[in-house]
Amino acid sequence: MSLADSDFIIVGAGLYGSTIAERLANEYNLSVMILEQRNHLGGNCYSTIHQETGIEYHQYGTHIFHTSNETVWNYIHRFTHFNGYYHQVLTTYKDQVYQMPINLETINSFYGVNLKPFEVRQFLAREIAKENILRPQNLEEKAISLLGRPLYEAFIKGYTIKQWQKHPRDLPTSILTRIPFRTNYNENYFHDKWQGIPEDGYAAIFQKMLSHPKIQVHLNTDFFSIRDQLPQNTVIVYSGPIDRFFEYKFGKLEWRTLRFEKEVISVEDYQGISVMNYAEETVPYTRIHEPRHLHPERNYPQNETLIIREYSDMDDGSAPYYPINDEKNRKLLLKYHDEAKKHPNVFFSGRLGEYKYLDMHQTIENALDLFETRLCPLFRQ
Ligand SMILES: Cc1cc2nc3c(=O)[nH]c(=O)nc-3n(C[C@H](O)[C@H](O)[C@H](O)COP(=O)(O)OP(=O)(O)OC[C@H]3O[C@@H](n4cnc5c(N)ncnc54)[C@H](O)[C@@H]3O)c2cc1C
Repeated sequence: MSLADSDFIIVGAGLYGSTIAERLANEYNLSVMILEQRNHLGGNCYSTIHQETGIEYHQYGTHIFHTSNETVWNYIHRFTHFNGYYHQVLTTYKDQVYQMPINLETINSFYGVNLKPFEVRQFLAREIAKENILRPQNLEEKAISLLGRPLYEAFIKGYTIKQWQKHPRDLPTSILTRIPFRTNYNENYFHDKWQGIPEDGYAAIFQKMLSHPKIQVHLNTDFFSIRDQLPQNTVIVYSGPIDRFFEYKFGKLEWRTLRFEKEVISVEDYQGISVMNYAEETVPYTRIHEPRHLHPERNYPQNETLIIREYSDMDDGSAPYYPINDEKNRKLLLKYHDEAKKHPNVFFSGRLGEYKYLDMHQTIENALDLFETRLCPLFRQ
């Protein structure tokens, strides 16, 4: 199948591009060509087996599937079963472990008290009143106005400095619209109806999604290296970075990135949980992942385990992870949106095309929506 023979070109074999390709081929028997610059399917959801230990890990950070959207849950179930994993996060501060997000257990252990749920708000109100911040001007003030200084200093300040390489005083309030905290002992990280880890890993999902004979995937292929060969008006679903499509003509959208450092440790269980945050600024990494805990149903080695330290940094353009939701970038994005309107045959989509943090269930939801409302009408006369 050549470029000219394809009904659709899809840039990116991540969850967005793969959902669109799967729908077009399976619903309408259309020819789809996917161009993916990496050497694997799955985009940032990709999982692979660590050679030395045999433990499956998520190459771009731990991914837990969670949703309350029944359509999305039914859709993803066509390609995988989920194990019974449910996500819980702990954080280490000054050699003590606390539950995250902040809940009654966190507050009681931190203050050495035994509050009941109905006493928490009044207790925190006393801390908050000490600084009386009515109109928070930056992230530090916002956090203190919601939690009080002691909890802010322990759990927000150092972690935020490590994430952003900036003091919370120098970050806008818009970065943090709310601080999730619970007045009960609920330790379930997500509020969603369903969650889990794909039993056979994420990579297997993408193999199944893209198995239709009319879907052709070209790995190690940068869209921009073949862009000139495309017939005019080819319909393109573009899930790459929107600013790159326009050769950064207005400037680069900024991202934060992550760096991961693997280590094999000669114990069966290093930290007893899949993700442990480190709240203090003096610990250079933000979290440690221990992927064996994502698959409690598997037989993993008893004499060794894999841990992955996560470091946060500003992106140099090579590995965009988290968009920066500040005024400067929002204004820049609007300029690219205006440019995008001049290309009605190109659908800018996914986390890179929309410059938006999207969870996996939102990515699928958006892709199914684009398929139904924008792509189907193109050929459903
Ligand atoms: C650290 C981290 C942890 C996360 N954890 C969770 C979680 O626990 N649960 C959850 O629901 N979601 C999580 N997410 C979100 C999840 O990763 C996204 O929802 C999902 O990856 C979005 O899919 P996508 O297809 O839009 O983007 P991507 O996965 O980034 O796919 C885009 C693809 O396009 C390719 N591409 C880009 N430009 C070009 C080009 N020029 N030519 C060819 N190919 C190109 C890229 O190589 C990439 O493979 C997390 C995200 C991050 C950053």
